[in-house]
Amino acid sequence: MPIGRKLREEALATKGFMPPNEGDALYAAACLACKTLPGLALVELGTYCGRSTVWLGAAARKYNTTLFTIDHHFGSEENQKGWEWYDESLADPTTGRLNTLPLLLETLRRTQLGDAVVPIVGESKVVSAQWSQQLAMCFIDGGHGDEPARDDYLGWTPKVALHGLLAIHDVFADPGDGGQAPHRFIYLAALDSGEFTEISATGSLRVLQRINGSSS
Ligand code: SAH
Ligand code: MG
Repeated sequence: MPIGRKLREEALATKGFMPPNEGDALYAAACLACKTLPGLALVELGTYCGRSTVWLGAAARKYNTTLFTIDHHFGSEENQKGWEWYDESLADPTTGRLNTLPLLLETLRRTQLGDAVVPIVGESKVVSAQWSQQLAMCFIDGGHGDEPARDDYLGWTPKVALHGLLAIHDVFADPGDGGQAPHRFIYLAALDSGEFTEISATGSLRVLQRINGSSS
């Protein structure tokens, strides 16, 4: 079953970078993960204003589990002033610095997904270092530089439970299509580890499943 029409419209009305067909694929993957590993949580890295969060949160609510969505809310490099994906309306008038937290809270209010979605405001690496629960699914869409991509891979993939899913956004095999860090340091790293196998590809979204290896 696809996501309900109203929630899908709310997702599409939310600022962000998740194309509709990839959001639908993310929802399907999240539902599969929840069915496979009942009760285990979902984690999203890179909330921004909560666009992809709506698809993931809808799945979490349907299966009675929780989505933790993690972001420091200051934006990635490419969201800063002078860069390609800068949105001036998201700048904090006092500091001038990007702040997407108010819009995330507004998205959760509009969608009434607050009972299934827990925002964590912080640096991905700091949170992963203290995170001990196994996950049904981890969706990585945070920093796309080499270092943050490596950190997210090392910090979060060990938390994905056996048969759980690792979804990665902005995976581009061809450098002409986009930055290489998610492809090289997350997607290929996961496949090369022998611990994951690919189960679907939609646009730049890749969904892998853990087939072996211990989770921590
Ligand atoms: N998933 C969103 C888009 C995320 S954009 C959508 O569907 O629209 C990437 C986000 O990752 C930005 O909001 C940025 O603040 C966050 N981010 C980048 N590096 C991070 C890090 N190291 N820790 C936490 N958040 C980070
Ligand atoms: Mg993305």
